Amino acid sequence: MDVVVVGGGPAGRALARACAARGLGTTVVDPNPERPWRATYAAWADQLPADAPIAVSVSRSRAVTTVEHVIARGYAVLDNERLRRLPDDVRVVAGRVVGWSAGEVALAGGRVLTGLVVDATGAAGGRAAQTAVGVVVPAERAAPFVGADEALIMDWRKPPAATTTDPTFLYAIPVSADEVLLEETSLARRPGLPLDELRRRLHARLAAHGIPVPDGEERVRIALDGRARNGAFGAAAGSIHPATGYSVAAALRRAPVAAAAIADGRPVARSAAERVVRGLRLKGLAALLAMRPDDVPEFFNHFFHLPDNLQRAYLDGDGDLRGTVLAMLRLFGSADWRMRAGLAFPVQSAKTSGTPG
Ligand SMILES: Cc1cc2nc3c(=O)[nH]c(=O)nc-3n(C[C@H](O)[C@H](O)[C@H](O)COP(=O)(O)OP(=O)(O)OC[C@H]3O[C@@H](n4cnc5c(N)ncnc54)[C@H](O)[C@@H]3O)c2cc1C
Repeated sequence: MDVVVVGGGPAGRALARACAARGLGTTVVDPNPERPWRATYAAWADQLPADAPIAVSVSRSRAVTTVEHVIARGYAVLDNERLRRLPDDVRVVAGRVVGWSAGEVALAGGRVLTGLVVDATGAAGGRAAQTAVGVVVPAERAAPFVGADEALIMDWRKPPAATTTDPTFLYAIPVSADEVLLEETSLARRPGLPLDELRRRLHARLAAHGIPVPDGEERVRIALDGRARNGAFGAAAGSIHPATGYSVAAALRRAPVAAAAIADGRPVARSAAERVVRGLRLKGLAALLAMRPDDVPEFFNHFFHLPDNLQRAYLDGDGDLRGTVLAMLRLFGSADWRMRAGLAFPVQSAKTSGTPG
C-alpha cells in the first residue's frame, strides 16, 4: 500500500518514518520540505521514545508558582536536524495540497499523488493560543534564572515591566552545552497575547540582571483549541495539549501505532478515551482562560502539589481518562471557594481587558 503524508512537520515526518519502516511506499508532501526548523522543540524526557533524537537533556526541573517546586523529572530538547531526517526510501515532494480525497491529493499546479492520504498539516482553527518570545543567551548569563543541569519549566514571578495584567511566566532551558533559551510565555489567552508585550517583559527581566539583549529571537504561536480533523495525525488531529501547547512527544510515541493501523488497513483514529480526555482538557483550558490573573500562580501551586502520577496523567495521559478525571477532581478539591467557582463555571472573564488583541 502507498501512503501520502501531507505535511512535513515533526508529526508528518515521524509518521512517514514509521510507515517506511513497515515497508509501506511512503511520500511526504510539504511546500518547503528543505526549510530548516527554527522552533525549539522540547519535552519531558520520560515521554520520548527511546530512539528520539535528543540534543540536550537535564536531569531535573523546577517551577516557581507562589513557592518553588523541584520536579524529579528530566527534560529534553530535541535535535531538529535529526528530527527532520527521513530515510532514503521516503519520497519527498515539494508542493501544496489543494484538493483532497480518500485515495488521492491534488497539488497546486495540477500534479496528483495517489495512496492512502494522511493529513499532517498542523493545527487549524481555534482562537486560544500560547504565545512566547525567547532569546538564547550564554549559560553563565542565564545563571540568575536557571542552574546547570536543570530546566525552569515556569517561573510565575512577575517581570519588572508589564503594561497589561495578563499572567506570563519565564521558561528557561539549555539548548546546547553553553547556551540557554529564555522565553517569556503566555500559557493561554484568547486571542494570544501580542508578542510586543512578551518582548517588553522578557527584555525587562534581562535588563534587571544586566544581561544585554542578543540578536535574534524565537517567536511562538501555538493554537491550543484547533479543530481535530478525522483521519489526521499530529496537531491536525487535535493532539496539541490545550493546557500546555505540547504535541511533539505524543506524535513521536504514536507514529508507530498509526503506521501499524495503516498497514492493517485500519483508519488513523483516536480512541474514544483519547477523545474524551481531549474534551476534558479543553474544559481545563476554558477554566484557565477565565481565571483571574493573580490566581494563576496559585492554581499551578495546587497543580504541583498533586501526586506525581496525577500530574503526569493530566500532562501526558492522552488516553488516561481515569487519571485525567482524578487529577481534575483533586485540583478542584484543593482550590479555595473562589477558584473552585471559576473552575466549575469557566466564563471568559474581563481578564484580557486593557490589552490590545
Ligand atoms: C516556535 C514553536 C515552539 C514549539 N515548541 C514546542 C515544544 O517545545 N514542545 C512541543 O511538544 N510542542 C511545541 N510546539 C507546538 C507543536 O508541537 C508544534 O507546533 C509542532 O510543530 C506540531 O507538529 P505537526 O507536525 O503536527 O504540525 P506542523 O509543525 O505545523 O507541520 C505541518 C506541516 O504541514 C505543512 N502544510 C500545511 N498545509 C499544507 C498543505 N496544504 N499541503 C502540504 N503541506 C502543508 C506545513 O508547511 C508544515 O510543514 C511549538 C510550536 C512553535 C510554533
